[in-house]
Order: sequence, then structure tokens, then C-alpha cells
Amino acid sequence: MTELPPMDVAGRLPRLRASLAGAGADALLVTRLVNIRYLTGFTGSAGLLLVQPDDLVFVTDGRYRDQAADQLAAAGVDADIGVGLTAGRQREILAAAAAAAAAVGRLGLEALAVTWAQQREFASTWFPSAELVATEGLVEALRKEKDAGELARIAAAASIADDALASVLPQIVGGATERDVAIELDFAMRRGGASGPSFETIVAAGPNGAKPHARPSARPIGRGELVVLDFGAVVDGYCSDMTRTVCVGEPADPTAARMVEVVARSQAAGVAAVRAGARAKEVDDACRTIIAEAGWGDAFLHGTGHGVGLEIHEAPRVAASSADSLAVGHVVTVEPGVYLPEHGGVRIEDTLVVTEDGCRRLTNAPKDLVLQ
Ligand code: ZN
Ligand code: ZN
Repeated sequence: MTELPPMDVAGRLPRLRASLAGAGADALLVTRLVNIRYLTGFTGSAGLLLVQPDDLVFVTDGRYRDQAADQLAAAGVDADIGVGLTAGRQREILAAAAAAAAAVGRLGLEALAVTWAQQREFASTWFPSAELVATEGLVEALRKEKDAGELARIAAAASIADDALASVLPQIVGGATERDVAIELDFAMRRGGASGPSFETIVAAGPNGAKPHARPSARPIGRGELVVLDFGAVVDGYCSDMTRTVCVGEPADPTAARMVEVVARSQAAGVAAVRAGARAKEVDDACRTIIAEAGWGDAFLHGTGHGVGLEIHEAPRVAASSADSLAVGHVVTVEPGVYLPEHGGVRIEDTLVVTEDGCRRLTNAPKDLVLQ
């Protein structure tokens, strides 16, 4: 794989700090590990980050003593790093965070990630003198807009998935099982440089395709059946997401062929609606209108798309109920589908970067339906 350009990790903290006052907090206790990774470069499985206006404290346990120092330094993030070594890991980490937060007045918590039990323990045991403030999506809001380094990682993940599909298509033949194909896709992505799949690969043929999130089964793929392939790769923590629908030979069922034609038009209309300033719900509308006109509005069983980045599903949401607007540097999917138990399922999905006047497609695998 070619060298990935650096990301501006250290530049994210000032933007987070600028959002604290608006959220009614003097400091933020970051507990979601994916947000800690975004803000510091740390990729371990335990840690807390206390963000104050002029102070940054990161605490983790002994397993990550060296990794934490190395990763924060590599990211150019200047923090006091505390390492618990003896008692229960979580307890040590919390005690260190509590000491660092002793003088904080209004301490923001990530309300969508903190459990009721944790909140009670924070209030009674660890931060009794602070006023705990529920904040929502402060780091997630920053994560929507990707920098050049992040875009390069998502593009690399998308390109690995494109190549994996190209190498596996010849193995999608009548009699191959869904599981066979899923395993081959996962293997091809790993061999292509992915650290893993970005979610459990979906290969769903015939009636299984009518379940949008079916798990690959031992059922052999039949000739003339629609096969939904939904998968993605991870590169340096960043995900890609793509769905293609194929058929071994011509579709046996004329309705299935029509479903493919309608979903392809719907997806193209959604992609055409993606640009900076567009409301995410307009993209959903563009896709949904075409499917509804074909009479299958009730068979489009999910939202049109989602943001993609460190998580496979993140902000912004592309759905009828979304209040999000798209901006330059957002990465979203457009993935309409039609699911009919008697005919199977069709979904077509691309991962796109929003630009000033449109979007750039990161998933470029061909959309040809028929495999001979
Ligand atoms: Zn997908
Ligand atoms: Zn998706």
C-alpha cells in the first residue's frame, strides 16, 4: 500500500475546546474510546481523556504505558499521561481522572455513551464536587468533517474493497455458498492490506437477500438469483462501505430484474443530490421518491445512508428524519434497497465524499448485474 498522508490529530482539540462553552461545560470527560482515538491517536482498549481549556490529561492502564506515550507523541498531542499499574484497571484510571478534575466546576459527560450506573458512580464517588453536565455528540460533530489524511485512509479502504470484489467475482458461481463468498471477500481484503472487515460481510442470495442484514449462510447460491454483497475494509482505523447486487446468469424472475433497474436509478438520483449545503433528508427524498413511484415504497426498509469514518455508522445520518446538512469533507453512503421475500433483495451502495458542487465516489467497483 502507498504511504498514507498524516492526519491533523492535534488540530482537533482546539475545535473541541471551542465547543465546550456552548455545551455548558468547563471540561469534557471523554469516555468513548473511538473519540479518544480521534483526539489523541491512542488505539488501546482502556483509557479516559479529560479535556480542560488549558490542560489535557490522558489516563490508561499499565498494558498501554508505552503505547500511549508513543501514539500521543506520534500524533503531536501534548498531554499529561497517567498510568495505573496495580489495582483494578478501571478504578485506577478513574482515580487518576478524578484527581485531575478536582477543580472542575461543570464537567461534561458524553451522555450517549455513559451508562446510568456509571453516571451514578461518577456523581457519588469520583467527581462529587463537580456539576455533571450531559453533552451529546461534541466529538462526533467534529468527526463528520474529514481531513485529507482521513479521506486518504477511507479511499484506501474503499479501493481494497473494490479490488477484493474484482478478485472474488469469478468465484460467485451457482453452488458456491454465501459463506464461501463472504470468507473469500474477507480474505481478499486482508491480503489487500486491510486490518479487517469494517463489519461482518453480508452475502445474501435469493430469499435471504430480502433481509437487509442477513448473515451469510451455508445455502448454495442458485443461478438466476439476486445476490446482495455488502462489505467494507478498515485501513488505519478508517472504514469503507459498499454494496453490489449481482446475479449468476440473467435474473430468473422479471420482477427481480425490474427491482435492480429501479434501485440503480434511485441510487443514481441519491448520489446526484449529494453536495455541500444539501440537507441529508433531500438525498433520502431523491432515493425514496423513485422507489415509491415504482410501487415499492414499503419495501425500502431502512434509511438511505450514513456517515463513514472511524465507525462504520456515524454522523451525519441520511434519512427522512435527519436534521443534518452535508458539508465539504463529509463522507456518506447512499444505499437504497428494495426487499421482497418472494423475489429477493437489491441494494446498491457507494461511499462518497461531499464536495462543493457534488461528490466524489470512493467505491468504484462496477455495478454490472450479470455474472456469466
Ligand atoms: Zn454497507
Ligand atoms: Zn452502509
